[in-house]
Amino acid sequence: MSEHLKGIAASDGVAVAKAYLLVQPDLSFTKKSVDDYKKEQSRLDEALKQSQNELEKIKNHAEKTLGSDEAQVFEAHIMILNDPDFIGAIKQEIEDQKENAEAALSNISNNFIATFEAMKDNDYMKERAADIRDVTKRVMSHLLKVTLPDPTMINEEVVIVAEDLSPSDTAQLNRKYVKAFVTDVGGRTAHSAIMARSLEIPAVVGTDTATKVTQTKGDVKIAVNGITGDVVIDPTSEEVAEFEQAGKDFAIQKDEWSKLKNESTITADGKHFILAANIGTPKDLTGVKENGAEAIGLYRTEFLYMDSAELPTEEDQFKAYREVLESMDGKQVVVRTMDIGGDKHLPYLPLPEEQNPFLGYRAIRISLDREDIFRTQLRALIRASYYGKLGIMFPMIATVNEFKKARAIYQDEYDKLKAAGTPVSDEIEVGMMMEIPAAAVLADKFAKIADFFSIGTNDLIQYSMAADRGNDRVSYLYQPYNPAILRLVKNIIDSAHNEGKWVGMCGEAAGDPIMDCILIGLGLDEYSMSATSILKIRSLMKKIDSSKVKELAEKAVTESVTNEDNIQLVKKYINL
Ligand code: PEP
Ligand code: MG
Repeated sequence: MSEHLKGIAASDGVAVAKAYLLVQPDLSFTKKSVDDYKKEQSRLDEALKQSQNELEKIKNHAEKTLGSDEAQVFEAHIMILNDPDFIGAIKQEIEDQKENAEAALSNISNNFIATFEAMKDNDYMKERAADIRDVTKRVMSHLLKVTLPDPTMINEEVVIVAEDLSPSDTAQLNRKYVKAFVTDVGGRTAHSAIMARSLEIPAVVGTDTATKVTQTKGDVKIAVNGITGDVVIDPTSEEVAEFEQAGKDFAIQKDEWSKLKNESTITADGKHFILAANIGTPKDLTGVKENGAEAIGLYRTEFLYMDSAELPTEEDQFKAYREVLESMDGKQVVVRTMDIGGDKHLPYLPLPEEQNPFLGYRAIRISLDREDIFRTQLRALIRASYYGKLGIMFPMIATVNEFKKARAIYQDEYDKLKAAGTPVSDEIEVGMMMEIPAAAVLADKFAKIADFFSIGTNDLIQYSMAADRGNDRVSYLYQPYNPAILRLVKNIIDSAHNEGKWVGMCGEAAGDPIMDCILIGLGLDEYSMSATSILKIRSLMKKIDSSKVKELAEKAVTESVTNEDNIQLVKKYINL
């Protein structure tokens, strides 16, 4: 019998395909004493051999599909499998302690990891610790005869079902085969959901039980509607037909929107607003072009760092930034400096374990602490500025001093490059993300020293409402239209305009139809969103009269009490 689940609609589109369960298997084991230690050593050898075969296959596949940089990590894993120190220590442990291979592998691996992680300022060694952890998992799976899931090896059409997906898991999904994904946890503004939208993979998150139900059903199909949040596990043929029809309707709708691709975004009363795209890598430029973006309002450069096996060099970064700037033909590109931390990690830059990573050492806090990394990025950006219209912005600015410090470092690098005769633009704008409530409240002060603001509602809402953006249990508190949030947004917009500065929004709320009716009324200048939302919003904006929504926005900020009040208010104005 089919099983219906309702989750959070995270990425538009409809798909029906075979389920692919991406859950970590149970790798727990029982420690045992053994008499025949040689037999345990041979069991280990066999598991090492199987791991090696598997890794060779994965490495070859990664080389073909992702490129040799991405495949390097598997090469490092193969080297560990053949490292005489590591493997020798495990075999010695089996012999000395007369224990089973699982226990010896676990003990020795823990010792190596602890030693490497203790090398405080040695990023290379910390990276090795992460590799050892991965390799240990693989060898253990062979000892225990369980299969590790591996989404990079998928070669048929599937719907991925996982408890959660990290941004790097999502980056590895192959669009050709992964028709949709469904997770137990997560929110619409978690980075995996954002990436699903730019990859155009339909997604439903926060279903609570998708993995459990799929596990009990075994080999089944799954129907996913990323527009409504509906998921059917093991659908009947009528249900499959229903979902397929919804998919066709969505395709027709998309065709209609695509006619607006080459138009600029003009409201019913003739006002022009900029619809820009958020990107994570130069690969996203195709989507930017296909969806007729008028600018790039947010280039999340952390993905450049995450896609690399080590810190990207100035040259690597320069190439990527130049490519993006050149391809935009003079349209503005706002590049955000590295926003690592929170849910985004670098294997080669291990961060301290924190109780609250979203409130911890991340983004500009790391950049100001690791000036070497920051300056390299700034130099690459300033050099690339010659090839287009560049805006640079700093993420997670909380205080005026942080902004001043970051801007001074930028200026220092700019002056040095210019003095050295490097061709650079004279018109780089230096702005900041407005995503921390303290900064939003003090926007009038920031507006004097920043060239522009970009409102990051994903974080601004989570910090204002104290509600984790990736936690479906508190998603009811994730309220973009709450008057408290709108008052912060209005303060940011008014403060910028008072100083003659422009202000955009690059949080996911910028691509939300209800929010946009209010934002036009508040006078927001630029709307930056997943490229796949642009044409839908352009079609909406053509119907909006900006003078009428001014009144509506005034009410939304001053009279409304709840998020729901504002949904009703907008729905009375326009049929959404
Ligand atoms: C935001 O916080 O709204 C934002 C755009 O940044 P990110 O989603 O990368 O945190
Ligand atoms: Mg943010």
